[in-house]
Amino acid sequence: MTDEIENGEHDPTPLRQPGEGVPPKPEGEKPSVAGDVAALAGGLKTTLSEFFKPVVTTMYPEEKTPRSERYRGRHYLRRYDNGLERCIGCELCAAACPVGCILVIAAENTDEKRVSPGERYAKTYEINMLRCIFCGYCEEACPVQAIVLGPEYELSDTSREKFIYTKEKLLEPLPPDVEARLNAKKKEEAP
Ligand code: SF4
Ligand code: SF4
Repeated sequence: MTDEIENGEHDPTPLRQPGEGVPPKPEGEKPSVAGDVAALAGGLKTTLSEFFKPVVTTMYPEEKTPRSERYRGRHYLRRYDNGLERCIGCELCAAACPVGCILVIAAENTDEKRVSPGERYAKTYEINMLRCIFCGYCEEACPVQAIVLGPEYELSDTSREKFIYTKEKLLEPLPPDVEARLNAKKKEEAP
């Protein structure tokens, strides 16, 4: 039948007639205005009882539902308090990433140009957010807590290119709740 419809031929399934399929009233029962009014009142009772219950709809995007503390969204690269980048270009995050969406190209620090405290720094650091599955392995693998996942989940954009997060974008200031989470984690891990 599907082939016939796709070929533009008439669908032979007969149309349902009005009232068809409606169960017949019990024998002897006559239509009554009182019965209809009672049925209408029963329906309205249900509507009104729902009307006065607390609203459960969240008016997104103006309102947002609370996130789990364990929620991980977009990434950030962190700096030390003195402004140096934490990332030392070791590529452990890229090695740990199960989908291969991190690109790190390292370069040597020099006395004239010091970007991080280590020997090397990440000259290029990119994450393809279209591939990322937000598993958090990169954060776990980083020996200096340079790459972390933040709480943002509204990551829609208008082109594929914009989903390649560059080092400049990743170095944007960290939301305060991420700092709080990292500090709490540090305290937990302290001996
Ligand atoms: S969160 Fe997972 S998938 Fe995304 S960049 Fe990190 S390791 Fe890769
Ligand atoms: S983010 Fe961490 S794991 Fe990744 S290259 Fe930088 S220092 Fe190494």
